[in-house]
Amino acid sequence: MYTLGIDIGSTTSKCIILEDGERIVGSSLVVGGMGTKGPAQAVEDVLADASLTREDMQGIVATGYGRNKCTETDQQASELTCHALGAHMVFPNVRTIIDIGGQDAKCISLDAQGRMLSFLMNDKCAAGTGRFLDVMANILTIPVGELGDYAGRSAHPAAISSTCTVFAESEVISQLANETPTEDIVAGICASVATRVASLAKRMGVKPEVCMSGGVAQNSGVRHAMEVSLGQPILFSPLAQLFGAMGAARLAWQKAGK
Ligand code: ADP
Repeated sequence: MYTLGIDIGSTTSKCIILEDGERIVGSSLVVGGMGTKGPAQAVEDVLADASLTREDMQGIVATGYGRNKCTETDQQASELTCHALGAHMVFPNVRTIIDIGGQDAKCISLDAQGRMLSFLMNDKCAAGTGRFLDVMANILTIPVGELGDYAGRSAHPAAISSTCTVFAESEVISQLANETPTEDIVAGICASVATRVASLAKRMGVKPEVCMSGGVAQNSGVRHAMEVSLGQPILFSPLAQLFGAMGAARLAWQKAGK
């Protein structure tokens, strides 16, 4: 049985096709989230990747910020449920997920079966989200995918003390004017995101094992700073940005089997 999970985010659309709720047979990631052609393109791409058709899908679940606007299915599930299920598939012992996406950050606590127990979310402020990193990468003219490498070369991370994205932007511009090495500025930016989200996680309570999900999980600078802030290792999978889509496909399989 094939099932499709569609995660329509604020910046990207992700899809996964699972065979029998377990094996990934197709995946796609398209830049462009809700309100763009991204979701339709992501569905087209995942079907092509799996060499399957829409008719082969026995269940489809949409999740993410734009799930209610999804035209492919009328079955929706929250990102929290889907990230928990997806992360649990890859890391069965995970009990805390730190999900940093394009416009929000969530800390999710889950049980041994991958069911969500509680969560805390920041969706009010760009600081502590992928948006903060995107804005800073733009000022520094560095691709967002290279921020981790820059941070890894820093010996003396710069202090980015502003908690507001707009003020932090001015701070970064001043650091540039003072000829602070770019890698130190980037390390400071990554630490700023990690510290903010770590304090959210600590408020919720952090039980090991801990993993990151969402696009920002790919940033090794944020991951490393998060490990320092939480004082424990963070599990990482290259599939981290697809955990929501994976969980949605898993849920579609569970629903189709009932
Ligand atoms: P959403 O679901 O809200 O669209 P995602 O979980 O897909 O968000 O994450 C998007 C964020 O991930 C971007 O804002 C960006 O900062 C970050 N990101 C995307 N690709 C990469 C990458 N290759 N390396 C580091 N960070 C990335």
